[in-house]
Amino acid sequence: MRLIFLGAPGSGKGTQAKILQDARGLAQLSTGDLLRAAVKEGSELGREASTFMNAGVLVPDKVMIALILKRMAQLDGGGGYILDGFPRTQAQAQALEEALDELGQPIDAVIELKIDQAKVLERLLGRRICPNGHGEWHVVFNPPTREGRCDFCGEPLVHRDDDHEEQILTRLDEFHQLTEPLSKYYAERGILRQVDASTGMEEIAKAIEAIVTDGAA
Ligand code: AMP
Repeated sequence: MRLIFLGAPGSGKGTQAKILQDARGLAQLSTGDLLRAAVKEGSELGREASTFMNAGVLVPDKVMIALILKRMAQLDGGGGYILDGFPRTQAQAQALEEALDELGQPIDAVIELKIDQAKVLERLLGRRICPNGHGEWHVVFNPPTREGRCDFCGEPLVHRDDDHEEQILTRLDEFHQLTEPLSKYYAERGILRQVDASTGMEEIAKAIEAIVTDGAA
């Protein structure tokens, strides 16, 4: 099954993609994670992307399209995937559609995680991530077992540079202007499904699971 998770920063795309990855064996393809890994490596891509990321604005389409198509080409075909954080613009959505049409492997469903701005701020200000990509926690709503440490590798958790108020507001602005219109784009193609993402982690996972089960039936 091929899925896209669409939603504002802090809507829980990454958390839910990880849950579904474990439950269904789908590969989570997170462009944010790919970029953060490139920044950590100090590669040319990382250097180019970090200025945009730190400011809370989108990395140029050309860079992102090349990055995700390269990553998708490395998949071994069978298992399906969840695109988490891609596409984020109309140009990205069109490039993806063209590439998948050529392969005869269209997206099965776009799951939009709907959430309001106040909730996003609350979630992102308290979010802490594992620097090795093992997931994310929240200082109040979902604290790690050992304070400030990843439950899986024990590394100190990180407060992302772009999870501070000024950058969050910029990211939300980018989302409303550039990404939110994709909801209509996919609704017109008949593949948009919406989920209330303001509830708890387990409830949201259940709603997503129901959509995926429905789609697989
Ligand atoms: P995320 O972890 O998905 O919130 O992404 C963190 C940052 O990476 C974003 O604020 C953007 O600067 C950049 N980024 C991730 N995915 C994309 C994308 N599809 N298009 C442009 N920029 C992206």
